[in-house]
Amino acid sequence: MRIGLDLDEVLSRFVLGLVEYYNSTYKTSLKLEDFHSYKFWEVWGGTKEDTIKKVWNFQNTEYFKNLRPVEGSQQAVQLLSQNHELYVITSRPIEIYEETALWLQKNFPDKFARLEFTKNIWTKLGGDMKTKSELCKDLSIDAIIEDTLEYAVECASEGIEVLLLNYPWNQSNSLPKNITRFDSWDDILKYIG
Ligand SMILES: [Mg+2]
Repeated sequence: MRIGLDLDEVLSRFVLGLVEYYNSTYKTSLKLEDFHSYKFWEVWGGTKEDTIKKVWNFQNTEYFKNLRPVEGSQQAVQLLSQNHELYVITSRPIEIYEETALWLQKNFPDKFARLEFTKNIWTKLGGDMKTKSELCKDLSIDAIIEDTLEYAVECASEGIEVLLLNYPWNQSNSLPKNITRFDSWDDILKYIG
């Protein structure tokens, strides 16, 4: 099977690093549970533009360089890579391609067939880039592992199976039938086999 993997919160603990950076920089005491939304301005206030600047600043720090892998993701990717083709499909800004590729190579050496970047809200470049579902279709992805509800629903509506990793920011009363929610990488492994 050809499997798409989102990067942040599926492989890397972006929000955890961001919270540590944010609390130390702005003297706040935010916790992961406070992130009921991945639109961070809805969590810590201020404007979207202000948040975009803050996230860019974060991406220039050691906190970002040293993001931890999601629990169980390294072992799971190791196993999955033996029988499946794995594609990383991220909505990170293309400007941080280099740092992203380095982090993946350090934490998941030689496990992925491709690293692809989609259209996103953060970037100054790439307004004409493809959306996540467009890229999944172009790459003939059979299933994608994702944490952002909007991308999950977008991909599901294009007929792609979505495995949604459970987080405070992706709660929903109901999900389309081709989205399944999982609590951990262990559970995902049991499902995909
Ligand atoms: Mg993500």
